[in-house]
Amino acid sequence: MLIPFRRLSTLPLDFELNRDNARFSGEIFLKKSNLAQLNGTITGSISIPCDKCAEPIEKPLNEEVSFYISDGIYQGAEEVLDVVEIDTSTIDMNELFSSEIELIRSDYFCCDNCEGKALDAEF
Ligand SMILES: [Zn+2]
Repeated sequence: MLIPFRRLSTLPLDFELNRDNARFSGEIFLKKSNLAQLNGTITGSISIPCDKCAEPIEKPLNEEVSFYISDGIYQGAEEVLDVVEIDTSTIDMNELFSSEIELIRSDYFCCDNCEGKALDAEF
């Protein structure tokens, strides 16, 4: 799903993407020229391997996602956190979805089984 920057306005544009069991939905609107805001949620689930035993576990998702998208290098005077700069004037929603999923995946994660073992080892 590609959204040309010029299609955005101050009226929120709804989006929804599905990949495997995960869903990324929300809205994008123009905050001011060259700067858009995205508010969304990631729901469903993804399969993540346990950090200890590598057994894949279906992890339920319920993530609030909110960031800004700048058409080109962000040059606003005010400090805005979480700005994604795009250089093609087109927002690649699949790419944004992928990087959000990667972020979730990079968190430490261990299955119930290993969690129990870790506790046992301490006593
Ligand atoms: Zn495990």
